[in-house]
Amino acid sequence: MKMKYDVAVLGAGPGGYVAAIRLAQLGKKTVLIEKDKIGGTCLNRGCIPTKALLHSAEVYHSALQAAEFGVEVHNVNYDYSKITRRKDKVVKTLRNGIEYLLKNTGVDVILGEGILISKNEILINSEYVIEVSDIVLATGSRPADVPILGINSEGVLNSKDILQMTEIPESIIIIGGGVIGIEFATLFSTLGKKVTIIEMLPQILTGVDKQIANKMEKLLSRRDIEIHTSAKVSKIEKKDKLYCTYQKDEQEFAAYGEVCIIAVGRKPNTENIGLEKVGIKITKNYIDVNDNMQTSVNNIYAIGDITGKAQLAHVASAQGIAAAHNIAGQQKKMDYNIIPACIYTNPEIAYVGLDEDTAKKQGYDVKMGRFLVSANGKSMIMGEKDGVVKIVSDKKTGEILGAQMMSPRATDMIAEICAVMKSEGTVEELEDTIHPHPTISEMIMEAAHDVSGLSIHQA
Ligand code: FAD
Repeated sequence: MKMKYDVAVLGAGPGGYVAAIRLAQLGKKTVLIEKDKIGGTCLNRGCIPTKALLHSAEVYHSALQAAEFGVEVHNVNYDYSKITRRKDKVVKTLRNGIEYLLKNTGVDVILGEGILISKNEILINSEYVIEVSDIVLATGSRPADVPILGINSEGVLNSKDILQMTEIPESIIIIGGGVIGIEFATLFSTLGKKVTIIEMLPQILTGVDKQIANKMEKLLSRRDIEIHTSAKVSKIEKKDKLYCTYQKDEQEFAAYGEVCIIAVGRKPNTENIGLEKVGIKITKNYIDVNDNMQTSVNNIYAIGDITGKAQLAHVASAQGIAAAHNIAGQQKKMDYNIIPACIYTNPEIAYVGLDEDTAKKQGYDVKMGRFLVSANGKSMIMGEKDGVVKIVSDKKTGEILGAQMMSPRATDMIAEICAVMKSEGTVEELEDTIHPHPTISEMIMEAAHDVSGLSIHQA
């Protein structure tokens, strides 16, 4: 049996399903092939379930703090199995929504495993072939393994396993202090569990503005999270608990916990999809693409985590949209200079563009503006005092080069900076933009005022 389409999209994560919808909107007869669940990592075992759990933890935390706001809440408690049920419900509702959108735009969905057998054919489940003019590869990524002795011990879990638990243990070791590790640490410590983080590099949250990463490390430590940086795990042993042996300053230490989460990065799904068969070029397991998202075979495009550009759902979706337009004959190039990154800690962290150090290294004459959360009225209303909003600008032109935030709602606020950067806006324009009061967003305006030393609410 052979079916014919204009375009086949392999993988239905935030890259693939978004590409498929846009292709159908642009008039292409499109088929979307998925071997597991629509929504991919992001919806089923990534962004959405983790944030649903974090939100429940935040509600619990607010209930514990209620007295501070004059609200009496008694016997505050949580039931983790109910928290996970709510998370599953959120995921299912969103998945149903995407399935409806795919149907409504006329995308055919095939649940099966696909493999390229030629530059115009995909074999599904070794049973039948789909023939197409163009192909979009969007097979995503999976948790990376690390060569640690005892990694397969009972109780050693990855991010996918941890999301399936309906009970949480009292003590948790997290190997890896990157975004995923720190978000899990935030979740479990907010729910009152003992968390130990072991990170090989000298600081947690590598890539985040140093001052903000250091401040977050202090806040996490204040919440009784044990953090060991410059520490390399060599062995995990299962005894009464899991014992993690790690080296730090040429000495050996051990941390123990009931479970151990491996959060050391992700590996692209580029094996067993027929890349060699059609001669698609890869570098270090990631598929090579140009700014149109084309691979080395010009009718085959690749998007999302398999391209190794930035392993973020919104980047995968943007690449999917770019690929769809290029396939439809409309030029759309990817621009990676303005990519917001968000971390769902308490307070949240978000950043985009260049930080101060990087801008200086790139030769910019930098002018910074800062505004402290403790000086913002809305933050005080919310009982928040930790954090800062920083704006990095080019002294010569006033152009905004980047921003870093650690504040309430930082993950929503960063979009304002992205929009200004996208339109090549200046600090002056940001300063002159009237922001609503009282809001967290006023901090952006105040930080812009501070670039010229004229912040109103900060001495
Ligand atoms: P995926 O979402 O991985 O989807 C790929 C799909 O392809 C999968 O469904 C897979 O089953 C399918 N597939 C693979 N091979 C085949 C085949 N041969 N045939 C058919 N189907 C196939 N990003 C954010 O932006 N914000 C966040 O807050 C965030 N939180 C995260 C939290 C966690 C715990 C994790 C693990 C990730 C998080 N991410 C987050 C990253 C985000 O999930 C990924 O960047 C995003 O899902 C990548 O999208 P994708 O479309 O490239 O691939």
